[in-house]
Amino acid sequence: MKLEIGRFADLRKEGWITADTHVHFLSPSTAVLEGQAEGLNLINLLAAQWGDLFTNVGDLPQGPIASHDGETMVWPGTENRQHILGHLCLLGGHGEPVFPMSAAGPDESYLGDPLWTSLADWLDACRKRGGLAVTAHFPYPIAEVGADIVLGKSDALEIYPDFGTGFDNPRFIHWYHALSCGYRLPVVGGTDKMGAYMAVGANRTYAYLAQNEFSFANWAQAVRKGNTFMTSGPLLTLRADGRVPGDVITLGAGGGTVEVETSAQCFVPLHRIEIVMNGRIAASHEEPNGAHQLKLHEQLQVPGPAWIAARCLSTLGPTTDWHFKVLAHTSPVYLDVPGQEVFSAPAAAFLMTLIEGAETWVNNLATPSDPESMARIRQTYREARQRLHHKMHAHGLAH
Ligand SMILES: [Zn+2]
Ligand SMILES: [Zn+2]
Repeated sequence: MKLEIGRFADLRKEGWITADTHVHFLSPSTAVLEGQAEGLNLINLLAAQWGDLFTNVGDLPQGPIASHDGETMVWPGTENRQHILGHLCLLGGHGEPVFPMSAAGPDESYLGDPLWTSLADWLDACRKRGGLAVTAHFPYPIAEVGADIVLGKSDALEIYPDFGTGFDNPRFIHWYHALSCGYRLPVVGGTDKMGAYMAVGANRTYAYLAQNEFSFANWAQAVRKGNTFMTSGPLLTLRADGRVPGDVITLGAGGGTVEVETSAQCFVPLHRIEIVMNGRIAASHEEPNGAHQLKLHEQLQVPGPAWIAARCLSTLGPTTDWHFKVLAHTSPVYLDVPGQEVFSAPAAAFLMTLIEGAETWVNNLATPSDPESMARIRQTYREARQRLHHKMHAHGLAH
């Protein structure tokens, strides 16, 4: 039987690449097949350690494999995991993988395995190999997330579309906290697929490559540049004064007016489209009966330095066994005002609390490894705390 499914849009023709940043357990050839079925260009197939079980490790040396037409590619990477500090998607890259992949005891590592690394060192190792260093299923596990944001170790945050709360949950709110303290991080989407219950790309990343050829390196570069959106269905674009996510617009002293346009289309009716500025809804349009296409065009007063992003959602759903909401969120466009910096005191206090929490766990509860490794891990958090401390004082925030 041959089923032909009509497209309502073809973003690939317009220079976009679509990817799942987080897939487990499939064989690479099955991943190509499933990727083709779901219209995905790139599947990041992640080897991982689950206690005594190692998966997809044998696929790492084989490098990427692709469909005959070259339009669907599977790149092996690793998910490096620690149960308190966090999980990372270390994507693509060359040479030796970032091994070992788990640290500091169950469920991720061996029983009794001590703490021998920070996530920051794993992120550095990934970047050194030319890979894309992504904080997995942000923000959980959470302890080192704050330090890595402050130290600029992560290239992107992978965010999931939880059904019940939509955007009103720590996945988006903690990302907003980072952006509102001046830490510029694009968003990516992945599934963490671990079985047939989840289609590859049910939550995915669109990244704009323009005329560049489709390769892992060009995709990773496009994500770093920041013209991305994460989506469980809607196709969402944003322009601010003609600029796209990842771009920086420089305003004069006292800010200015910015013309913002966002457009969403989806196979499921959408009910709301919003423009978010510095974490607050700056403009929105609601369609109570739902529509396959929503648009919003606004002149926004921007009083000072800011970030602006677009988001949209449907009240229908959920989709998948993991109860994904049908939604999409773009990465931000950044608005600079010379001599000023976007800064939120409560968000900075939140990040500081996270860093101190990670230190407390390392000093009191972690199973220590050798003194040298422990000193190195503690130094990571000390440095993050000092940098954030300086930023807080520069903004007149004694704490
Ligand atoms: Zn994970
Ligand atoms: Zn995973």
